[in-house]
Parts: sequence; structure tokens; C-alpha cells
Amino acid sequence: MGITPSSEPVDVLIVGGGPVGASAAALLQMATKDTRRPLRVAVLELNRPRASAPEAALDSRVSALSRASERILTAIGAWPLIPPSRMQPYERMRVWHESVQPRSADVLEFDAAYAGEPNLGHIVENRLVQTAALTAFESAGGTIIAGELGRLRAHDHHVELETSAGTFACRLVVGADGARSAVRESIGLSAETSSYRQTAIVANVRTELPHERAAWQRFLRTGTLAFLPLADGCSSVVWSADDSAAAWLLALPRTDFEQELLRESDSVLGAAKLVTERLSFPLRKLTANRFTTHRCALIGDAAHVVHPLAGQGVNLGLLDAAALCELICAAFRKREDPGAQSVLRRYERWRKSEIEPIALAIDGFNRYLAHGVGPLSRIAQRGLALVNRSDEVKRFFITRALGLDGELPRVARQPPAAPSAPLS
Ligand SMILES: Cc1cc2nc3c(=O)[nH]c(=O)nc-3n(C[C@H](O)[C@H](O)[C@H](O)COP(=O)(O)OP(=O)(O)OC[C@H]3O[C@@H](n4cnc5c(N)ncnc54)[C@H](O)[C@@H]3O)c2cc1C
Repeated sequence: MGITPSSEPVDVLIVGGGPVGASAAALLQMATKDTRRPLRVAVLELNRPRASAPEAALDSRVSALSRASERILTAIGAWPLIPPSRMQPYERMRVWHESVQPRSADVLEFDAAYAGEPNLGHIVENRLVQTAALTAFESAGGTIIAGELGRLRAHDHHVELETSAGTFACRLVVGADGARSAVRESIGLSAETSSYRQTAIVANVRTELPHERAAWQRFLRTGTLAFLPLADGCSSVVWSADDSAAAWLLALPRTDFEQELLRESDSVLGAAKLVTERLSFPLRKLTANRFTTHRCALIGDAAHVVHPLAGQGVNLGLLDAAALCELICAAFRKREDPGAQSVLRRYERWRKSEIEPIALAIDGFNRYLAHGVGPLSRIAQRGLALVNRSDEVKRFFITRALGLDGELPRVARQPPAAPSAPLS
């Protein structure tokens, strides 16, 4: 399907082919590709990454993907495109506050086995998720336009997008263009934003002790320090530290930084040697006041940005993508307009009611566990040990980590179908 600036309006144009936008595009494309009139879907992406060579060292930008995300990526055919040799299932999470010993009974441990699951999720390079989802979309017949959004104008029956690749028209525009969304700005959707006054330092390290297929997270008075297990035996460090501490850590020579890692992790995985450069990400919170407006919907980081301590950003975004696509496809099957207000309102109610309590809980963890010194913080810190003693509460948190609670889109509810037996 050729989509050029002079083409008829496409049904859905997704601005931003990041992991969330690319998955939304593939879901829409695949859901209707075998119908008499498939949805016409296009993605506008400014900066499509190249797939990494299979033998290349692992990238330091990784995400912990939940079971719900695995199901969504499986449904679009992207999951099998991610080489198993580059993704690490993790079976356990160990979370503790700096006031307790790292291998004591007060460490909160979530084990997939409590929920009868083989693992709690997978640690995967962001670039691989994105390239796999884009490839899945293209294989299903979708079009990727290389270009940058300039302005957009909404009319009664269509939206016009001025881009560096020409002017396009669509019946629904989906803003999946990340935290600094040009779509959100261009249509005037306001957002509550605040800085956490923290910077996340990200790097891969080789540790003296094995990661034991576990994600390790220590709450410090100046932030959180996490080690996520990687498929090559290394770990991905995500260290969210107060801005001044982060600036100091980033300026340290490598060996001094490694010493700080050892000290602040309470030697839980022994000495750590950097195997990549340190990257830094200023952390801020963002919630768009509305996720939709006339013929326009926001998904992923364009709609909400949460603190990385709970590893939820991509996972929430993929659920947005799946929820929106389910509603669009239901409308489309009834020959209704995919950009109809009724579709957009349902999407907004659905996803806002799911995201707001999660964003609040993540903020609470950051405020009371990672920073606080007052009475509420002491209660929260003791609470970690109490959670550890209740299987019931632990199961609740495990279900949350797997992304399997709340009102799930159908595609995230269903386990991927087992491969059918070969015909003999
Ligand atoms: C340190 C750190 C650790 C994290 N760890 C986790 C984790 O473990 N698990 C998890 O679920 N989440 C995690 N996150 C969050 C996660 O990275 C984001 O939520 C996720 O990348 C959002 O995906 P997205 O597709 O919505 O946006 P993005 O990844 O920002 O993609 C947006 C896309 O839009 C394109 N674009 C932007 N502007 C334009 C334009 N004007 N025109 C055309 N294209 C445009 C960009 O090139 C990009 O490809 C972490 C975040 C940080 C900072």
C-alpha cells in the first residue's frame, strides 16, 4: 500500500514509531488485514533505529517487559523476532531498604513460583522491541513514513499533518511521539508535569557474583539503585539519584564510580565493572489532562510518564496501544468511524482510570521508600518486611508485576496460542 502526501486520507496515522506506536500500528494492521477492506494505517517516524547485529554487545537501554507486554508483542509477531539469546527472563525480584541487610529475611522477595509462573517478565533491549514491532507492522503491509511532524490541523472529518515528508491526512491521529510529544503540543492538550529532581544513570556492568536471574533493587535515602539481569550474564544498572548526587556520580572516573556502586549496593552482587558508558536521563513525571480530543488520541509516554523505579513505562504504553486498537477495531467492524468521539471517550476513561492509581503508587514508593526520613517513611520501610510475610499480599504484587491485573485489553488477557502440531 503506497501512502504518499497526495493519497486519500488514511484511517489511522500514528506519529512516533517507538515501541508503543509501532505496536499499536501492528495491532491495527493485523486485526483487519484479512478483511475485505483493511484499515489503512501509517506510522510517521523521525528516527528509525537500525536492528542490532546478532553478535553486537547488549545495549544499555533495556526495559523489564511484563507478561501482558509479552502477549501483546506475541500477538503482533514481534516477540519471535527478538533473539532469545538477547532477552533474559527474570524469576525473582529482591527489594530492600538501605536500613536492612541485603540477604536478610527483611528483604522483600517476589518469586514467580508463588504465582505458578515460570518468570516475572523479561529484560529486553528497547531498540530490539522497537525494531521488532516496526518489522512486524511492515510485514503485515503497513507503511512507515520517514519524517518529522511539524503541525497538525483537525477538521470535522479528517486531520491534516504537515511533516518534513509532505502533508498527509487521516481520520484519526495517534500521538505516540514520547514525553515531548509534538502531537500533544500541536493540538493544545495540556499536561501536568513535575521534575523528580532526579537523574537516572544507566549502564551495563559485569558483577563478581551471578545475578541469579533476579532483579535487585535497593531503596536509598538519595534514590533507588537497581540491577536488572541481562542475557549475557551482565546486569543493567538503573541508578535514580538526586540531581546533585547524579552529577557527582557521572563526573567520577570509572573506577571510583564502580566503588560507589559496590558501596551503595551493599556489595549484594560483589564488585561491578562497567562494560558500557554511563548514560543519563533527567526524570520527570507527566500526565496529560486529557488523552483524547477531536480525532486525536495519545498513547504511551506522550500521555503519561512515570518514574522508572517500577519499570512500568513501556508496559503501560503497550496496554494503551492494545486498548485503543481493540476499540478502534470494534468500531471499524461495525463500519463506524475509527476517529469517532465515542471510541476516543471510552479509550480515555478506560486508560485514565487504570493509570492514575498506578502513577500515584509509584510516586508513593519514590517519596516514602527512596527518600523519606519521617514517620510515614519508617512505616513504608517496615511495610516491606511485612509484605514479605504475607503470601496473599505478595501474590497481589506479583500479579501487578506481570501486568495481569486491572481491566486488560483482550490481547493481553490471552496467553499466546501454543504452536499447532505439524501435520503428518
Ligand atoms: C532509565 C529508564 C529506565 C526505564 N525502564 C523501564 C522498564 O524497565 N520497563 C518499562 O516498561 N519502562 C521503562 N522505562 C520507560 C520507557 O523507556 C518509556 O516508557 C518508553 O520508551 C515509552 O515508549 P514510547 O513508544 O511511548 O515513546 P518513545 O520511546 O519516546 O518513542 C517515541 C518515538 O517517537 C518518535 N518521534 C518523536 N517526535 C517525533 C516527531 N515530531 N515526528 C516523528 N516522530 C517522532 C521518536 O523518534 C521515537 O521513536 C524506563 C525509562 C527510563 C528513563
